[in-house]
Amino acid sequence: MVDKQQHQILDAMGIQVWELRHSIISPIEQPGCIDTSDPEVEAKVEVRATPPAIAKLDWQDLQQTVAGCQACELHSTRTQTVFGVGDQGADWLFVGEAPGAEEDRRGEPFVGRAGQLLNAMLFALNLKREQVYIANVLKCRPPANRDPAGKEVQHCEPYLLRQVELIQPRIIVALGRFAAQSLLKTTDPISRLRGRSHQYADTGIPLVVSYHPAYLLRSPIDKKKAWADLCLAQSLLGALS
Ligand code: SF4
Repeated sequence: MVDKQQHQILDAMGIQVWELRHSIISPIEQPGCIDTSDPEVEAKVEVRATPPAIAKLDWQDLQQTVAGCQACELHSTRTQTVFGVGDQGADWLFVGEAPGAEEDRRGEPFVGRAGQLLNAMLFALNLKREQVYIANVLKCRPPANRDPAGKEVQHCEPYLLRQVELIQPRIIVALGRFAAQSLLKTTDPISRLRGRSHQYADTGIPLVVSYHPAYLLRSPIDKKKAWADLCLAQSLLGALS
């Protein structure tokens, strides 16, 4: 059941909650979620290996390596690197595009209004920010929030791959077009990537695509779709249990 506070959060997000009149709720049904127990599953496999020098790094060494990284031009304009935050053994991994101005200043991904919206969506799923892991494809801010360049992604991606290896999440949610296209190595538009399960590289980890919270702040009408995406992710996670 959705408690009063979750109702308020979902209401604020513009999401209508449907609840069963009977209390027969299967383990994979979640508050306010559509039953997506039989989602279309797309097996999209691509092998991506972590470079040996990075593959042996533990959390501390990885974070230090990222903090000192000058592999692409973005190092010269960053205030600091934005490594990632959250539970290093989380079931859920959320991946966005790259740090914005506030993230660059504070050294943490998804802060500010977009971060608050993500926190609210997590809360509606009975999750706290500290219970998931949140990272970006790029660890440094592109100047003027421009789209990351292909070479920058190429240089930075091994760090995210190593984070995935260390976390071993059970579900990955790609937030926004850029993160989705980078993680899935596709140019398909987000409208074609949402609503189904993908697989991250050759890891076997299911990946769901949703909108970036910053986009949802500009287009609140799509919050319902974002909620459906999170429900799909939760359903996939429940099916793995
Ligand atoms: S964006 Fe990634 S690859 Fe480029 S300097 Fe920052 S940490 Fe290194």
